[in-house]
Amino acid sequence: MVTAALCSQFMPVRQLVMPFRPLAFLLLCFSLSAQSRVTAIRAARMFAGTGTTVTQPGLVIIADGKIQSVGGPVPEGATVIDLGDATLLPGFIDAHTHLSMAFDRDYSGARLAALSRTVPESAIRATENAKRTLMAGFTTVRDVGSSDFIDVGLRNSINAGVVPGPRMLVSVHALGSTGGHCDDSAGFRPNLFGRETGPKDGVINSPEQARYAVRYNIKYGADVIKTCATGGVLSPTDDVDTPQLTQAELDAIVSEAHALRRKTAAHAHGAEGAKRAIRAGIDSIEHGTFLDDEALQMMHDRGTYLVPTLATRTGLAESKFPPLVQKKADLAVKSQDAMVKRALAKGVKIALGTDAAVYPHGNNAVEFALMTADGMSPAQSLLAGTAVASDLLGLSSQIGTLTAGKQADIVAVPGNPLDNIKLTGSVVFVMKGGVVYRNERSSSSQQ
Ligand SMILES: [Zn+2]
Repeated sequence: MVTAALCSQFMPVRQLVMPFRPLAFLLLCFSLSAQSRVTAIRAARMFAGTGTTVTQPGLVIIADGKIQSVGGPVPEGATVIDLGDATLLPGFIDAHTHLSMAFDRDYSGARLAALSRTVPESAIRATENAKRTLMAGFTTVRDVGSSDFIDVGLRNSINAGVVPGPRMLVSVHALGSTGGHCDDSAGFRPNLFGRETGPKDGVINSPEQARYAVRYNIKYGADVIKTCATGGVLSPTDDVDTPQLTQAELDAIVSEAHALRRKTAAHAHGAEGAKRAIRAGIDSIEHGTFLDDEALQMMHDRGTYLVPTLATRTGLAESKFPPLVQKKADLAVKSQDAMVKRALAKGVKIALGTDAAVYPHGNNAVEFALMTADGMSPAQSLLAGTAVASDLLGLSSQIGTLTAGKQADIVAVPGNPLDNIKLTGSVVFVMKGGVVYRNERSSSSQQ
């Protein structure tokens, strides 16, 4: 399987550097992948994501990129990967990333750097963020806000096997109002960019513009529609909790997206903006920092997901901000934990999402421990980052659990993560779609 992975991954490169020998290499790939079509992954235990327990031993049989069976027997001729004292889990899912954006401790410097950098440079840097995320065990992400279509290009390049990275659902531009959290020109002088931002940049100011922007995003590759229903922490000119879209605008965004079979996510810190998004039928509330009990009850009753993004505090703590942004960051971090505890008490569905780029890419697993610190059991937090998140993404028939017929997205951590959830940060094995991207434990053998 490892060889098959290398063949599919690096064949184009080999063809480039050895232009006269592609056929020989093709034949080598064919014979090796035919030999090792079935792979068995063994470990001391597994957390399949179908319940809240760990079972012993862990054994998953993989054929043609999919899970053929969970448990024995190991078919004759299968390649066996034995990971020893480790726990197999479904590939982790992060429902809130920004792989095309860089983490930078210097807020003001980063805003200037983003203006100086060419789009190709940003895209090349994004490939490194994608690789780090995959190697951390996150085999799927929902990427909720990008610029210049870098997210679309990255997703397509990953799907084509050009660069390693997680499966991506992308949103193109997040949709918000003039001067709001999603207006990238906020904080710069008028006319600096030669024109005012509009629907093609994700900036809308009427239900009609909202529908146009949804259609425009989908036309150019959006899998999911993201909107900014309230102010944000890192935007330089707004308050963090004010509503930024009207009920009619949010209704238009969600109904148009749903009509075109796309799920929706709303960035919302304040309760009023969140309630408008929930009423509109939004699929998830991102951050949710200042949600009141009424908003949480509405989410519970309608099955709206909460994506708390607690990991943001790790990046905010080490960053340098102007006074307004620092004040908003302090206020938000102070309110997050109490809100998550109230959401848990109400039984609101919670999916793992981290806001990667607000903290360094690849540290996504810290969210598991932060959710556990807020009162989730270790199993609940693992489910939030696997089965529950796959449901929010609309991909539960394909990923999220170790179940026969699903994509072979499998990770392993040392020891037992139910005893120590922080072990999710020490991934030793990553397989996506049957291809091994990381294996620090074993050489494989033939059964
Ligand atoms: Zn975000």
